[in-house]
Amino acid sequence: MELNASIKYLKGVGEKRAALLAKLGIFTLWDLLTFYPRTYEDWSNLTSIADAPVNENVCIKAVVGSRCREQRIKGGMTLYKTEITDGEMLLDVIFFNNKFAAQKLETGKEYLFFGKITGKGYYRSMNSPVFEEYDGSEAFRPIYPQTAGLNSRAIQKLVKTAFSVCGSIPDPLPEDIRNSYCLMGIESALKNIHTPENEDMLSESRRRLIFEELFLLELGLMRLKSKNRRSTALAMDGDYTAEFTSLLPFELTGAQKRAIAQAAEDMQKNVPMNRLLQGDVGSGKTAVSAALIYNCARNGCQSALMAPTEVLAMQHYKTLAKMFENTDITIGLLTGSTPAAEKKKIKAALADGRIDLAVGTHALIQKDVEFKNLALAVTDEQHRFGVNQRGSLTSKGNNPHTLVMSATPIPRTLALIIYGDLDLSILDEMPKGRQKIETFLVGGDIRERAYGYVKKHLCEGRQGYIVCALVAENEASELTAATELYQNLTDGFFKGFRVGLLHGKMKPAEKKAVMDSFASGETQLLVSTTVIEVGIDVPNAVIMVIENAERFGLSQLHQLRGRIGRGTEKSSCIMISDAHNDITEHRLKILASTTDGFKIADEDLKLRGPGDFFGSRQHGLPEMKIANMMTDGEAIRETHAAAAELLKKNPALEGEAYTMLRKAVNHLFSGGMSMN
Ligand code: ADP
Ligand code: MG
Repeated sequence: MELNASIKYLKGVGEKRAALLAKLGIFTLWDLLTFYPRTYEDWSNLTSIADAPVNENVCIKAVVGSRCREQRIKGGMTLYKTEITDGEMLLDVIFFNNKFAAQKLETGKEYLFFGKITGKGYYRSMNSPVFEEYDGSEAFRPIYPQTAGLNSRAIQKLVKTAFSVCGSIPDPLPEDIRNSYCLMGIESALKNIHTPENEDMLSESRRRLIFEELFLLELGLMRLKSKNRRSTALAMDGDYTAEFTSLLPFELTGAQKRAIAQAAEDMQKNVPMNRLLQGDVGSGKTAVSAALIYNCARNGCQSALMAPTEVLAMQHYKTLAKMFENTDITIGLLTGSTPAAEKKKIKAALADGRIDLAVGTHALIQKDVEFKNLALAVTDEQHRFGVNQRGSLTSKGNNPHTLVMSATPIPRTLALIIYGDLDLSILDEMPKGRQKIETFLVGGDIRERAYGYVKKHLCEGRQGYIVCALVAENEASELTAATELYQNLTDGFFKGFRVGLLHGKMKPAEKKAVMDSFASGETQLLVSTTVIEVGIDVPNAVIMVIENAERFGLSQLHQLRGRIGRGTEKSSCIMISDAHNDITEHRLKILASTTDGFKIADEDLKLRGPGDFFGSRQHGLPEMKIANMMTDGEAIRETHAAAAELLKKNPALEGEAYTMLRKAVNHLFSGGMSMN
């Protein structure tokens, strides 16, 4: 039978079964063969009845000693009970309402019983075990994702049948790759993933299949990237970084210098740069983008910097305007709240090249915004933009160089996959003189003390934040929470202090006024919702209280906390939470114990899973059947290197040995991500 033949033609599959299999995503023979078990039952580890622990899955080899007895119990249930023995001891085996199972057991025959033992001493019994006649084989039994009407045993049988009719299976991984990486052949891998000969074979088959899946993905992404690179961009002449650094009041960190050099080199080529700049909150990404913007302007070209929120766009505008104040670089700010007349002027100036740098929100990608010669498009916090907005800034120029900046610290291996078609620069070094942020987790019972601590700082001339959580999943209640807290605090604990309120529902002009007042030191304490998560940079703010900390994601808390510790003063973050459960405490303790964004992201990922972490399907990659982008870091690194090496030698995957591989890669990317 052909591997892509419909599953309907497999022996044992009728109309009904075919429909059930379809529910599991199985339509062809190949789908069935690559429908991998979720886990395995270990039937290899036999225990005696005497030694069998209670309430754990155990496997017992025993002979049925008595005929099945039927017993009606309350609730209309019927209980079927039989006795088994392993030669030393007797044990009751009980089935509830399952006459069919009970009757299958034949007195005097030997079976393997798999299940949990409950009860004590004389009253121990094994309830509703899975059993099979003992034939001395199959140590690990596959457990598949199931659907009603189709259990693991049934699927296992179908898989067996499939293997018996499919003939030999061609291997997408060429022999030289398999040899270099010590990978077993596809046939052996598939057989062992379904019914492993032993534990070693199981782990080797997993390794092989995960390798294949990630290898194909990497190959696909890398070829996609090389294809994008064929278009021509404006090549920058020379590198003006040295000149740029003289504009800064600080010295660049080594990491910043590295990132700038990498990007500047990209931009001297006439293939568009496509780079991700990843750096924790406060690592100084803005300065890196500013260096490139400066470079661009010196070359007589325009650049654009797009941010996801007005607050952030405004912040960038201010920072850059200050940085470039003694240069002839002209900057325009374009956001949703820019007055119409002003907008018109800025647009005209962008179109004829009088403005060198446009900073803004998605207002920058409106249809009527035109650039004269956009050569660099920078996007900050790209993951906050909708998928369809991402490319739009690029489309404002003729293949401009692009830089994407992100503080969402995606574990490196995962970034490799998700941003596989981007080059990566990492700011893994904080600017000098940064003080560690001390983080405490406290209960609501000592809120007064926490506020007292804040007050102490305010009295010393410092500033602080109090952040409130979303109470329910809507902005309105977040607003209520913040407004109420603000009222309570201004009338109560912080009476006489200059307290400000910032929330997402404010008009941009109001927001700006509040922020300006806080930045100038006029406002001492800012009560806020999560709108401060990005964009506020006030080094004098050294204390933050986060209310209901359990309601935030770990990475979000980390971002919030990143608003403090921006100056040379020691900063403190106090998380208040009354949620007493292990998971919450575990999460918040992680945050209290480290300020390493990568570590926090890793933990966040482990706790929440990648779907949640990225907002499902944001990355738009094909779905994985066996590889786990969260936990298979080692395999991701290995396959990334392997794919790069192969493409270097054989970019088009030419030759007979690679035919299967080429086809498999194209097939994987046929759903939406075309690459020919
Ligand atoms: P982020 O990476 O979070 O966007 P920013 O670019 O906002 O970080 O920088 C955070 C703060 O650090 C800013 O106040 C910035 O001026 C300052 N900064 C950036 N680079 C350096 C440096 N090399 N030395 C000292 N301060 C720096
Ligand atoms: Mg930033």
